Amino acid sequence: MAGTGVFAEILDGDVYKYYADGEWKKSSSGKAVAIINPTTRKTQYKVQACTQEEVNKAMESAKAAQKSWAKTPLWKRAELLHKAAAILKEHKAPIAECLVKEIAKPAKDAVTEVVRSGDLVSYTAEEGVRILGEGKFLVSDSFPGNERTKYCLTSKIPLGVILAIPPFNYPVNLAVSKIAPALIAGNSLVLKPPTQGAVSALHMVHCFHLAGFPKGLISCVTGKGSEIGDFLTMHPGVNCISFTGGDTGIAISKKAGMIPLQMELGGKDACIVLEDADLDLVASNIIKGGFSYSGQRCTAVKVVLVMESVADALVEKVKAKIAKLTVGPPEDDCDITPVVSESSANFIEGLVKDAKEKGATFCQDYKRDGNLIWPLLLDDVRPDMRIAWEEPFGPVLPVIRINSIEEGIHHCNASNFGLQGCVFTKDVNKAILISDAMETGTVQINSAPARGPDHFPFQGLKDSGIGSQGVTNSINMMTKIKSTVINLPTPSYTLGNGGHSKL
Ligand code: NAP
Repeated sequence: MAGTGVFAEILDGDVYKYYADGEWKKSSSGKAVAIINPTTRKTQYKVQACTQEEVNKAMESAKAAQKSWAKTPLWKRAELLHKAAAILKEHKAPIAECLVKEIAKPAKDAVTEVVRSGDLVSYTAEEGVRILGEGKFLVSDSFPGNERTKYCLTSKIPLGVILAIPPFNYPVNLAVSKIAPALIAGNSLVLKPPTQGAVSALHMVHCFHLAGFPKGLISCVTGKGSEIGDFLTMHPGVNCISFTGGDTGIAISKKAGMIPLQMELGGKDACIVLEDADLDLVASNIIKGGFSYSGQRCTAVKVVLVMESVADALVEKVKAKIAKLTVGPPEDDCDITPVVSESSANFIEGLVKDAKEKGATFCQDYKRDGNLIWPLLLDDVRPDMRIAWEEPFGPVLPVIRINSIEEGIHHCNASNFGLQGCVFTKDVNKAILISDAMETGTVQINSAPARGPDHFPFQGLKDSGIGSQGVTNSINMMTKIKSTVINLPTPSYTLGNGGHSKL
């Protein structure tokens, strides 16, 4: 159970402690932030509201710890990460319980998130020992005008202190996708978990504590992003920010100093359906892509662009599948569970009302009870409706009927987002042309958008992000190249088989 057994030390009364300098601590602010259970809409947990002074201290210890961590052999760093991964998986039940209570993640998906996170940590450790164990050796005479008098040795060096800020929807997985690459590469890390999801993240951090990482190397400071966010992201001690979330990331990018940024932001992933598509396959993918975790996924299908000639048939198939979705509490492992907050539910309702006023066809009646919104397919959506462009982050999916492929591509590219997209057709040649024309970081052919497998590159264009994630890309992003150049007094060439160079 959460907060008990090995996790008892992270709880003080009814408030979870924050983690700094290798210890679980109470904030001197004496204030707590309440975490509201999306299902009951009552306070489920409380976390410390950390002060700026506590953030300063966490940064100082992170800086000090990083210096000796960078001198720790790579295989030892990997060994500790493997240990943390095993502990994380061993304690999947209490962590999953927090995900259910804090963010209303369906019970099975919550367990999957923790297990996937353990696998991600192990994979990153393995990948790290390979790619960080290699550098480059360059010789000067490939560039015009040079003889072979310079040998250049390059290696990947850590950046220093990484600030990691994940979003509510994957508070464990999107935290470890930053923690593991940061640590294997020799960095230290300060984590600011999302408020909804903070207790899941604190449990996950405790698994790293139990694995025995040096004190100060990992810290987890809690508090509302709106209160300590700016102080963290503009902190002079931060050498790199890895952020996943919404438009907040755009504001952070404008304020952050001259440091590398990894930004994974929102999306409006389009699903383009051609006339020759396998409509059963499309319908299943629309359900999985649009309604898993009640649509609260960055890579959810967020608009369907279907050729008019097959639109009626597709809409009927999707409607039939929606009718089978279970709606209710996450504890019962329902397909559709309450969205994360009342303000989020209100926002979704605003998009639905706007679509109603402007004449969208409702394939189901709109139904809401508290934060629970029943799955809704909106047909005949037109570009003047907000839902055509905005990210509902809920179980409401618009269908726009198109008369040409160009129309679909145009709608996709007119979005300010460019995360992923998908195209369904049996004609692979057409699929490639469409993929190339879509201004998104990834295009899936004949499947819904997805972030995983976690070692695939994952990136957004336009307002959807800066840089690229995925195990290898994140390790590379959290390092810098260092070169050492050996300058020879005379050119030196190896002559190969049988040759003897004249000294
Ligand atoms: P959000 O509101 O942007 O919050 C993300 C994180 O930023 C949270 O930890 C939040 O903390 C923190 N934060 C808030 N204000 C801040 C500030 N001024 N400075 C620094 N940090 C601050 O996003 P969300 O509602 O959690 O997540 C939903 C969004 O994330 C959607 O737009 C979704 O598409 C996007 N997302 C993108 C990806 C991707 O990889 N592209 C993956 C998942 C989700 P608090 O919780 O304390 O406010």
